[in-house]
Amino acid sequence: MTNQDTITESENLIHTQLLDGDNPESIRQAAIILKEKGLVAFPTETVYGLGGDALDENAAAKIYAAKGRPSDNPLIVHIADTDAVYKLAKEVPDKAKLLMEAFWPGPLTIILPKKEIVPDGTTGGLNTVAIRMPSHPVALSLIRESGLYIAAPSANTSGRPSPTLADHVMEDMKGRIEMILDGGAVGIGIESTIVDLTSEVPVILRPGFITKSMLEEIVGKVTIDPALIEPDPNLRPKAPGMKYTHYAPKGELTIVEGASNASTKGANKVITKINQLVLEKANSGFKVAVITTSENANLFDCENILVAGDREKGETIAAKLYKVLRQCDELDVDYIYSEAFNDGELGGAIMNRLLKAAGHRVIKV
Ligand code: AMP
Ligand code: MG
Repeated sequence: MTNQDTITESENLIHTQLLDGDNPESIRQAAIILKEKGLVAFPTETVYGLGGDALDENAAAKIYAAKGRPSDNPLIVHIADTDAVYKLAKEVPDKAKLLMEAFWPGPLTIILPKKEIVPDGTTGGLNTVAIRMPSHPVALSLIRESGLYIAAPSANTSGRPSPTLADHVMEDMKGRIEMILDGGAVGIGIESTIVDLTSEVPVILRPGFITKSMLEEIVGKVTIDPALIEPDPNLRPKAPGMKYTHYAPKGELTIVEGASNASTKGANKVITKINQLVLEKANSGFKVAVITTSENANLFDCENILVAGDREKGETIAAKLYKVLRQCDELDVDYIYSEAFNDGELGGAIMNRLLKAAGHRVIKV
């Protein structure tokens, strides 16, 4: 972890400090910035967040500007104690209370009808508000020390992969925000599960580490926003952010998926196909990368083989995925071929991100 590392910027850019998030003095300084309506990026257990005062229109506007985020894409409000939910939300149904009790602090965001005090600037004009209590100690300390509710989208430039390291935040936000709290690598690596609780049956608006079956164990039937299941131009996702292309590396990413994904036969076909595509592009003078897992890494013939965890352990793929997508940009590759990672409980959440990064370009073999 970096200690006191200060980066000086040219005239019209803000000076972005990088401080150790484990140091109480850093938290104190960060809280002052937030109270003065400035912006601080901080680690959460999912990805790094870009924080500002959630009840202040100007701070919200600064967040949108720093990210280059479309203003109809609302922000999640981060809190450190459950009482805050009753200050921000008009109604808190029993199912919300049960989910809060089961999964908070943790990677679950709930959507509830908003109270007046939550400005339209934070909710993108919606009459609902997204609320989450993160479990990361740095995030919790910062919320408590500031005494604020903190609006915090992922701390990346809009469209880029979410940051899972303080370095990623620096890449995107240097000169645009006052401070970054370094908490090392995040634990989960993909954004929170979002559940809409404004209808009788809760609806998943964004898949994440907390899966449908985990939610159903607590509150019974849960559905998934149909717009998430198949890309369909006639269906508009209920979470405005889900309609945007996201996480996309600069090179063209294609997913190569086996018809029988889990079987050896399917896997062999995928490897053969990817090797063939790599050879074609390399022969034409392009720089190519392959995204795979540790099990298959030595089966590819490519100069850039990027390993996103172990296929057997979905959580290791989630933790590495965005880092690997950012590496594609660092390597400046023209074409990227990735295996599909559908397996296991986290497969849906991982593939939701990978498909967006690939602009839904999939070759089935
Ligand atoms: P990020 O902050 O980058 O993790 O993105 C936040 C996600 O939450 C985006 O997809 C938003 O569209 C979604 N979101 C935030 N507030 C609401 C809300 N009130 N209703 C539906 N989706 C929301
Ligand atoms: Mg985001």
